[in-house]
Amino acid sequence: MTVTLKTNYKKNKVSSFAEVWECTITKNKSLHATVDFVPGEVLSSLGAREFLTQPNYLSVQIAEHQHILLEPEFLQYINHSCDPNVCFDTSNMTVTALRKIEIGEELTFFYPSTEWSMDRGFDCHCGTQDCLGKIQGAAHLPLNVLTKYKFSQHIQQKLAQAD
Ligand SMILES: [Zn+2]
Repeated sequence: MTVTLKTNYKKNKVSSFAEVWECTITKNKSLHATVDFVPGEVLSSLGAREFLTQPNYLSVQIAEHQHILLEPEFLQYINHSCDPNVCFDTSNMTVTALRKIEIGEELTFFYPSTEWSMDRGFDCHCGTQDCLGKIQGAAHLPLNVLTKYKFSQHIQQKLAQAD
């Protein structure tokens, strides 16, 4: 007898524009759009429920020595992709669409766009054509990769110093 494994998701609506999907097999969580977005459109404000001086695996870097825990909290389920569809704009403190996003699409951002050197690096399995493999923050990216992405202001400053 063949057993077909079917991937199922538990879906939980967390805001007017998104729901958290939890894979019943891996327990991994991801955030998915429940409405369409056009490029440049703001999905959400990016707030802080706590400020940290050191990064942890949930924090987002907003300045050289400043890291935040996200508010709204469900934004922490926006996973990394090497071909992201949103950015965390740490100058205007918004989550902004980088391209057209359709209903049901997973929301992803490029972690090194805000993170200089991550607390925990990881092996990326985003499956996109130009997947970078190991993700550890902007400090660890090769030069030819840096030109392909949009970085937060504090990362741009560090990159300029590193030149
Ligand atoms: Zn990747």
